[in-house]
Amino acid sequence: MDATTRTIVRERAEWRCEYCGIPEAATPFVPFHVEHVIAQQHRVDDSLDNLALACDRCNAFKGPNLSSVVSVSNTVVHLFHPRIDVWAEHFELDEGIVVGLTPKGRATVRLLCMNAPRRVQLREEWAKEDSGC
Ligand SMILES: [Zn+2]
Repeated sequence: MDATTRTIVRERAEWRCEYCGIPEAATPFVPFHVEHVIAQQHRVDDSLDNLALACDRCNAFKGPNLSSVVSVSNTVVHLFHPRIDVWAEHFELDEGIVVGLTPKGRATVRLLCMNAPRRVQLREEWAKEDSGC
C-alpha cells in the first residue's frame, strides 16, 4: 500500500478511528492503522472500498474477524463495515461511551472492546477539547 492511499484513507476518515471514533491526534505516540476491513487472509483487496482507518486497539481486537455472536440470542452478526454501514445508524456516543444501537453495533462494541476505561477517557477528554471547555 502506497503513501498516497494511506493519505486518502486518513483524510476520508477525517483522522478518526472509523470504528470507535477516537481522533488520531488523541494518541500521538500510537499511530493509527490503515486496515483491511475484510482481512487479506480472507481476500486480497487493497482497494479503497476495503480500507479503513482504525486505532491500534480496534485494529488489534478486530483482527481478521468479520462477525461475532450476540450472546442474548446466540446468533452470528456481521461486524460494522465502515465502507458499507453508516456509523450513526449503529452507534451513538454517550459521554465517551460508544453505545451499540443495533445487534451489529453491540457486537462490534463488545468485540473491539470500545469501552475500555482508557478509551472512554480519551473520547471524553477529546470531546471537551473540541467544545473548547
Ligand atoms: Zn478505534
